Amino acid sequence: MLQYEDAPDPVPNADEALVRVKACALNHLDVWARNGLPNVEIPMPHISGSDIAGVVEGVPEGEQKFAKGDEVIVNPGIGCGRCDRCLSGKDDQCKDYAIIGYGIDGGYAELVKVRRDHLVKKPPGMTFEEAASFPLAFETAYHMLVTKARTGPGDTVLVLAGNSGVGSAAVQVAKLLGAKVIVTAGDQEKMERAKGLGADYVINHYGEDVLSEVRRITEKRGVDVVVEHVGKATWSGSLKALARGGRLVTCGATTGADVTMDLRYVYNRELTIYGSFMAGMGELLEVVRLFEQGRLKTVVDSVYPLQRAADAQARMDGSRHFGKIVLKV
Ligand SMILES: [Zn+2]
Repeated sequence: MLQYEDAPDPVPNADEALVRVKACALNHLDVWARNGLPNVEIPMPHISGSDIAGVVEGVPEGEQKFAKGDEVIVNPGIGCGRCDRCLSGKDDQCKDYAIIGYGIDGGYAELVKVRRDHLVKKPPGMTFEEAASFPLAFETAYHMLVTKARTGPGDTVLVLAGNSGVGSAAVQVAKLLGAKVIVTAGDQEKMERAKGLGADYVINHYGEDVLSEVRRITEKRGVDVVVEHVGKATWSGSLKALARGGRLVTCGATTGADVTMDLRYVYNRELTIYGSFMAGMGELLEVVRLFEQGRLKTVVDSVYPLQRAADAQARMDGSRHFGKIVLKV
């Protein structure tokens, strides 16, 4: 159950900074933490919230880069920083990987403590709500399309649920990489907005058959990359939508994780399936640079006061949003 209540102020460890939260965006991860996942222990009471923007309240002794008053965002993924994976930029594969707001108290709060090396300067010109809206969704989309699927200008990319945080980010990243983008959306208004983000084709995933539309648009060839995060409801169609040699990248399963598939599609067509989970710090910094250059734009659906976090989560759960839902603290 999600409840608004008083909690003690976090006490930073020797290597942690204290951040006064100004805004915190919602992610499906928040709902997964609340509902519980097998083999994941979430200590209670737990403060959700992985996408944080705020102002530095205090820094550890000897900190050179950041000072009290600096406007920051927070890299939500924490690797140990010392293992072979972390040292090769694959923090997300660290065996000790943890996420702020998912087992560690996060940003649905006035104050949060974070490791000092997880502070990132907030891009200038962005509001706190905009700044909180992009880290997790865009680093995930970047990791999926750039690092995993190695998307290029000749590719056609199918992005499922373009209204979601990751979907609305993936449309933009895929366009930036020069790909042709097909996106699915659930109603006319979301379809228009997806077009506004640069999508070349939009399919109504309730009103039209996605697979036959993809075949029509690609003249039966199929797409090179599918950005999957829906899971059970779409998985088999996503595989069938791929061209020979196509790549499916998945970062979530909002409709269920126990999927079935016809393996013959995988080997006959030489398909590749990539799992994708968060991203490395280097990838987040790359995303920040793209925002600073004006080549990506934040997509904020709505802003709720912190007290109404439960209403905000209900909006996300009901898929009524387009882009990110943000809590203002
Ligand atoms: Zn590590």
